[in-house]
Amino acid sequence: MKGWSLLAAFINFAILAGALYFIGRRLAGKMIGAYRDKVAQSLKEADQTLSDARALLDDAPQRRRKNQERLDAVRAKAGRDLALLREDNDRETAREVSGYEERVTYHKEKLKETLNRKLAAAAADKIIAAAEEKLTAPSAEAALQAMNHEFALMLGGVIKPCTGRKVSVRVRCARPLADEDLALIKTAASAAAGEAAVSYDIGEDPALIGGIRLEMDDWVYDTTVRNNLERIRREILTDGMTGGDFQEALTETINGSRRRMAVYEAGYVDTLRDGIAHVRGLKRLMYGEMMTFPNGSIGMGMDLLDGTSGVMLLDNPDAIEEGDEVRRTGRIIEVPVGEALIGRVVDTLGRPIDDKGIIRTTEHRPIESPAPGVLERQPVTVPLQTGLKAVDALVPIGRGQRELIIGDRQTGKTAIALDAIINQKDTGVICVYVAIGQKESTVAGFVSRLEAAGAMDYTVIVAANASEAAPMLYLAPYTGAAIGEYFMYSGRDVLIVYDDLSKQAVAYREISLLLQRPPGREAYPGDIFYVHSRLLERAARLSDEKGGGSMTALPIIETQDGDISAYIPTNVISITDGQIFLESELFNSGVRPAVNVGLSVSRVGGAAQLGAVKQVAGRLRMELAQYRELAAFSQFGSDLDKTTRETLNRGEKMTEILKQPQFHPMSAADQVIILYAAGQGYVDAVALKDAADYEKGLLPYVHTAMPDLTAAVMSGKKLSETVLAALRSHIEAYTRDFLSAHRM
Ligand code: ATP
Ligand code: MG
Repeated sequence: MKGWSLLAAFINFAILAGALYFIGRRLAGKMIGAYRDKVAQSLKEADQTLSDARALLDDAPQRRRKNQERLDAVRAKAGRDLALLREDNDRETAREVSGYEERVTYHKEKLKETLNRKLAAAAADKIIAAAEEKLTAPSAEAALQAMNHEFALMLGGVIKPCTGRKVSVRVRCARPLADEDLALIKTAASAAAGEAAVSYDIGEDPALIGGIRLEMDDWVYDTTVRNNLERIRREILTDGMTGGDFQEALTETINGSRRRMAVYEAGYVDTLRDGIAHVRGLKRLMYGEMMTFPNGSIGMGMDLLDGTSGVMLLDNPDAIEEGDEVRRTGRIIEVPVGEALIGRVVDTLGRPIDDKGIIRTTEHRPIESPAPGVLERQPVTVPLQTGLKAVDALVPIGRGQRELIIGDRQTGKTAIALDAIINQKDTGVICVYVAIGQKESTVAGFVSRLEAAGAMDYTVIVAANASEAAPMLYLAPYTGAAIGEYFMYSGRDVLIVYDDLSKQAVAYREISLLLQRPPGREAYPGDIFYVHSRLLERAARLSDEKGGGSMTALPIIETQDGDISAYIPTNVISITDGQIFLESELFNSGVRPAVNVGLSVSRVGGAAQLGAVKQVAGRLRMELAQYRELAAFSQFGSDLDKTTRETLNRGEKMTEILKQPQFHPMSAADQVIILYAAGQGYVDAVALKDAADYEKGLLPYVHTAMPDLTAAVMSGKKLSETVLAALRSHIEAYTRDFLSAHRM
């Protein structure tokens, strides 16, 4: 029994040992296998790294070469840039130098002028002193004595009858008056006085040298040598009298004083305040008449009251003093006009303010002149393209029209006017831009923008800057009109911009208040309407008999808070043939030009619009109005029907298409293409953000395909069905390509 159990135990042990060996072997095999794999993997990676390293080593020269090449390219580009920069710099310097040269010539000319004037003044002083000496010498005594009698004899023939119930006569003579001569003078004066009671004030004044000066009823009768010498002084100063002339003038002074009497109307400055002089006398003064002061300054007659008159001082007001004599000239204020003004910047009196030297012109025009009558005009039929889609399509302007640009501050009013000026390039239209009450730097900015666009070749700028006295601001538009009229009456087309008339109205209000006129609505004087109407009536298209010229006016008015029903806006709206109303809200939301389609109109421009533009813009206005209404209405609605959605989409795209950056006026043909595309619904599928790109590509595409389109549009006729069909097919092809390129 013991042997069996031992055997069994042995067998059990053997089985256990075998099983253990088997399991152990498998486990060990597995472990070794995994280890082997790991080692193999590491070996492989090492191989890879080695070969990478080798490859890298092999690559190194090539890489170095590539880097070198890149470096060379960068160096070459930098060299080119440097050369360009140098070139630019040279050009800039050259321009600056030529600018300096121009300025130096100008200053030289100015200096010469000043020197000449100084020399002339010194010469005049010498000449007059010499003359005085000669004339007071004993040898002249007899001739001087005789002058009293000559005056007394002449007076009866020239004295003017006077009005009123009382009249005073003031007589000043250089030599004692003989009884006989006094009697003659009194007879003449009382004959002229008629019914009026006459009082006399007679005195002697040796400073007059010879002759007599008599004042009666604002008239001055003067044969004094002093007056003649002063006349000579003025002639020397203005005309540059020479020595030879002087001999003649001197003889003439004595003989002339004896033979000829100066007769003129004069008053005296009573009070002076803020550029306005109240003048005693001058009851026959004309409104707008030019007045002269002894120092050569000029003024303009404003108020014609009995006793005192208001005179606006235009030139050198600080040099005038109380008590100065003021003479009437009988002429309305004039400014130089003519071709020489083109490209220049002038002030209200037509004097250059642009460093480009003296303006050489012989022609003058009064700043106020009556507007052409009905018979001298003809209807507006020729378009004046502004180059702005929103204006040319929706509120077209014709040559000879008056279209108001109105809106709050900073809504792009000036921008429209400047673009319109730039767009007149190569059209033969002369432009006049009148800047009223703007900052000098702002105006200088406009001038350089216009210069850069080549627009100064046909433009005149009249500037009355904010720092100038109110009279200059008030008169600047009339000066601009006079300069424009010269071209209009010579048969040319003119575009004139008044920027802006609100500031002119404020200047006029200031003047009126200083003149103590009764303030009316908004403190403006009652005749403020006439200030603007007589200015804007001067814009016209003349009949063919009158030369067929035209003057198109774009007055600008600034509103407060979009209130177009204020006093000045309503006035000017009623004078003009329509208005372009710009809105801050649109402007700020990026719709620029910010034309409010509903409130903007052009009452006569439709007849002048190009046929093709009219054709493509026909329904635009209505569609846009519809869109604005729907857009406001459906702002809160969520589910809209298909037609509403389509109208909204079309309106949105149209609004986008009408946007236009500043200083990028468009030709009429370009406008026709893009407006036609939008009107026919091709833009509907284009995303809003792509609209500008769409337009940019479309225009050259169509022009290349249809080279005759521009001529067809400019003919003024409507486009034929065949042209329209061709246009449609090209637009369609372009749109298809554009959309597939932009869908991705
Ligand atoms: P103000 O009341 O000061 O005279 P304004 O109404 O004449 O202003 P602008 O000076 O013409 O307005 O324009 C105001 C600003 O808007 C300017 O900086 C101008 O460059 C810019 N601007 C005008 N029109 C456009 C446009 N179409 N696109 C982009 N910017 C514009
Ligand atoms: Mg402006």
